[in-house]
Amino acid sequence: MPVLLKVEGIKKHFKTPGGTLHAVDGVSFELERGKTIGIVGESGCGKSTLGRAVINLIPATGGKVLFKGKDITAFKGKNLHSLRKDMQMIFQDPFSSLNPRMTVSEIIREPIVEHKIKTGNREIEEEINILMETVGLASRLYHAYPHELDGGRRQRIGIARALALNPDFIVCDEPVSALDVSIQSQILNLMQDLQEEKKIAYMFITHDLSVVRHMSDDIAVMYLGVVVEKCSVDKLFQSQLHPYTKALLSSIPSTDLDFKKSRIILKGEITSPINPGDECRFAARCNYATDKCFKETPVLRDIGGYHYVACHYAENLQKGDSA
Ligand code: SF4
Repeated sequence: MPVLLKVEGIKKHFKTPGGTLHAVDGVSFELERGKTIGIVGESGCGKSTLGRAVINLIPATGGKVLFKGKDITAFKGKNLHSLRKDMQMIFQDPFSSLNPRMTVSEIIREPIVEHKIKTGNREIEEEINILMETVGLASRLYHAYPHELDGGRRQRIGIARALALNPDFIVCDEPVSALDVSIQSQILNLMQDLQEEKKIAYMFITHDLSVVRHMSDDIAVMYLGVVVEKCSVDKLFQSQLHPYTKALLSSIPSTDLDFKKSRIILKGEITSPINPGDECRFAARCNYATDKCFKETPVLRDIGGYHYVACHYAENLQKGDSA
């Protein structure tokens, strides 16, 4: 499959009274049509900011995003408006992202009319009905308001609205984390079916590792604005190398009675993302840290077989040695 999206060293910094907050600091990845990259990390690691910067919902501070070969980072006005047809976003909280004064059909109609996907009332009505059926919304809900629906149905509206523009790429920002577990799997299965049928590429942002495992082809693990490990989903769950990834994966709830023994509890202060220095951002919490880790920023590098790790001692950790 050809590369659809190429993100090259994208940065998003914010000026704060205390200095410059490096929310996203040089993230790179590629994504093919019909594939999913999962972005995981704890709250505040910059994953949602990354999603917004990639689709130019917020302007990047540095780096480039190439979409279908074009640099979209500097798109404005008309170019940006037409880019929205190709790149969409599904939000975490479907309720707050939907206009409470609009009915289901009005919410889905809005992008169809705005981007002139269909013209003529009959064609527009037909399109709304097709989209409602595609995402599993019963036609009786046509005139319903968001507050009359449960979370799963609201998220189906959000998906229908994104699909209305027939996008090639969707940023999914914690799309199921506000939903009941039973409804989560329905929505995830719907998203996978749509991907299969329409060859949509997803950037799937979540803190839920079991969800990302189910959905992704590749995974990038973020820590304080940078990617610390990136590889295929299978590799990450079999042989994760970065000490932060190991700790993150050890926190997955398990029925294994030995689980508590193997869980890695992180100690130490989280480094401030404001004016970070030349050090490993994980050094203050890392059991393997050496002097070098407090003086030199490790580069994300391929240690072989499409396995990228940002750790000075990745090879030692791969061999099972200490740093
Ligand atoms: Fe730990 Fe040093 Fe590797 Fe950072 S570079 S993850 S501090 S061992």
